[in-house]
Amino acid sequence: MSSSNPDWDLEQLKRDIHGERVGRNNTFCCDFCEVQISLEEPVMYDIVSVYDLANIEALSNPPKGWILDAARCENCEVDAVEPKTDGWKEAVVLFSIAESNGILSADASELTLIDYSPGDEGHHPPSIPLSALTTPGGVSMARWGYLKTLLATTAVEHEQFDVYRDMLTDMEKESTD
Ligand SMILES: [Zn+2]
Repeated sequence: MSSSNPDWDLEQLKRDIHGERVGRNNTFCCDFCEVQISLEEPVMYDIVSVYDLANIEALSNPPKGWILDAARCENCEVDAVEPKTDGWKEAVVLFSIAESNGILSADASELTLIDYSPGDEGHHPPSIPLSALTTPGGVSMARWGYLKTLLATTAVEHEQFDVYRDMLTDMEKESTD
């Protein structure tokens, strides 16, 4: 995480996400556990930029640059991009939410960077069903950092979720060995 890294430009990141709409119908909820998030304090967000993901680029035509991926409530906060996913530029950041005429948007003018992962670092992305790539929010599942929190908070049981859980356990073992 250094400014000499050509892959890394914090000001560009801020410009990309500043003013992006957040929330739905004037309420703002955690993207993992759906608890309502207070707008009084800066909010934690996973933000991402596609670096090298041929499948996803072909099927979902993601926007260029940084995009807001998932809001985290206090219970779902993390202190790092963990595990990192190869092919995505990922960051965990804090910024305020602005409200104007009932419209909520990201105010990235003061942004705190918690952690950053370059596009060419991390684990091979989890394989996700093609159908997920075409559903809203489905692309998020192609990142381990998203899946890890999702699997920790979901009550849904699914065979594939157990496969992911096993893979995450193996990654954690690798990193502590
Ligand atoms: Zn949450």
